[in-house]
Amino acid sequence: MRLLNRLMLLIPVTIALFAIVDGHASSDPSNKARYDRFRIYRVLLETEEQVQLMQQLENRSDSYTFMGHARHTNQNLTIMVAPQKIAEMSDLMERFHIRGSVLLHNIQDLIDKEDSTVMPSGNDPEHFDWQHYFHLDTIHKWLDLQVTKHSSILQSIPLQASYEGNLIKGVKLSKKSGNTAVFVECGIHAREWISPAVCTYLLNQLLTSTTSDVQDLAENFDWFFFPVVNPDGYKYTFEADRLWRKNRKPYGLCRGVDLNRNFESDWNGIGASSDPCAYDFAGGSAASESETQVLQKFLKENAQSSRIKTYFSMHSFSQLIMFPYGYTADKVQNYEDLQTIGERGSEAIRRTHGKEYVSGAMIETIYPSSGDSVDWAYSECDVPVAFTFELRGPPDSTKMFILPAEEIEPTGEETLAAYVAMLKAARELGYYESAETQKGEL
Ligand SMILES: [Zn+2]
Repeated sequence: MRLLNRLMLLIPVTIALFAIVDGHASSDPSNKARYDRFRIYRVLLETEEQVQLMQQLENRSDSYTFMGHARHTNQNLTIMVAPQKIAEMSDLMERFHIRGSVLLHNIQDLIDKEDSTVMPSGNDPEHFDWQHYFHLDTIHKWLDLQVTKHSSILQSIPLQASYEGNLIKGVKLSKKSGNTAVFVECGIHAREWISPAVCTYLLNQLLTSTTSDVQDLAENFDWFFFPVVNPDGYKYTFEADRLWRKNRKPYGLCRGVDLNRNFESDWNGIGASSDPCAYDFAGGSAASESETQVLQKFLKENAQSSRIKTYFSMHSFSQLIMFPYGYTADKVQNYEDLQTIGERGSEAIRRTHGKEYVSGAMIETIYPSSGDSVDWAYSECDVPVAFTFELRGPPDSTKMFILPAEEIEPTGEETLAAYVAMLKAARELGYYESAETQKGEL
């Protein structure tokens, strides 16, 4: 009885505490993550001892945030180091003769600078542009506005799913029947803000450009655009932690699944983690996350009927154009074709603003990964032309995911040029023949 009484007393207090924490945790600006004096190191692992050392370091301490994992010698690795560990990091590098440099001395400086280019939430979608970064609500309102303005060719696709109840909003652009379709997936990793920005840039170009190449793409392909497939995570990067990557579903002590490790393609294999606190946590099971489930379902239902032959997954950074597989060194059956198409893309990018993008199979160009959307679309939905883009900046970028807003437009321009070149190459290789011709050939 006494115990029950004590419990009864505790309940209102507990509820009140939860109300405070739950109601304001992520929206209270004073709770926002800060990265004062956090450094970015870029190191070259030259010996097996150094590789093992970095592996131990990643497992032992969350004051070191690894971008990729230490795997083998002759590997460059980017590591974010918390200020209280800078002395330790310098000491380790000296003692173990690790070559490397500090790419950035204070991440918070970059975030502060970027703030002036972030338009406030609730912004009028009529004022949308590609000189600023926009909150989720504005991107969604801008999509709605486009559907209203171009109602004869543009259709809204609101997918009901995210842990926090935000929509995954997409659109379909179609000017005539009989086209094959291109699926563009953006914003699966929350902090990669350039991805949704380029996504809306590309859609806007397809709707308004007077250039014949772009008009040809708008006319002769159907387009699915999903600018923010991880809406909860994207929101969280604006409200609470600029460097958040995963979705926001709680798993015990930690939160968030890396949605690009959660697809049902070699799930939780190489390059994914089963630790919920890791940045590349694969989830509780294959397609455990509602965001993954609705995307998989939508693609399964539409890949054949809408003739989706091309899939672009847009990320940053590293300047890469990659095709499957991510989880095995086995070559895909149309490896040569995808190599050619990817190279046409990087050539087009080079011609636009001189940026160097490397193209190749995912496992050869970046690092092994499993459960990613592009491998899944390629293997499970028979989408033969499937690419992951890592947009600006370069692999040794000093800005990482915090790409200055003035680079949105040029990044959009070169990506559009890549799309033009890649779809042209794939068309020449026979990937987009009409349904009738394909049937005839069979
Ligand atoms: Zn990414």
